[in-house]
Amino acid sequence: MPGLNQVDVKRIERILNIVLDDARPPVGRCRLLSSGFAPYHTFQLQENIAGFKGCLGCGNCLDACPLLAREPRRRERTPQRTSLALEALVAEDCDRCDNCVLVCPQVDTTIKHYIVNTRMVEGMARLLHKAERDEEWIIYDL
Ligand code: SF4
Ligand code: SF4
Repeated sequence: MPGLNQVDVKRIERILNIVLDDARPPVGRCRLLSSGFAPYHTFQLQENIAGFKGCLGCGNCLDACPLLAREPRRRERTPQRTSLALEALVAEDCDRCDNCVLVCPQVDTTIKHYIVNTRMVEGMARLLHKAERDEEWIIYDL
């Protein structure tokens, strides 16, 4: 959950790029690289959950995943709405679009801005290339 003191992307750039270059859902690892809950994010609770980086189970990442949108039958394998479910459903077929990272409330805005500023154009070009290749296969199959 982005707070006032978010992670400095320069300090984690190397590991962040390794995570984002991997063809597996990056959101869980980006969440762990983020700063987590701040004390002012919540109602008064008995326990102190400052720094909590766990998945909230909100399902935003599943809803924003283009692979699951293209192949909705994958969603039938589990009703869970967690990053673990996303990882199980996508596995190594990830498009590397980073949508899941951008919509996760537990990932710092600094990481999101880094992705938007440095990786989106490259990612869109890769997806366009993939879509063209898939289209060629469809035409070939006809
Ligand atoms: S949203 Fe994009 S980056 Fe995340 S798992 Fe789906 S295809 Fe991969
Ligand atoms: S978007 Fe929601 S469900 Fe996905 S990893 Fe973040 S907190 Fe968990």
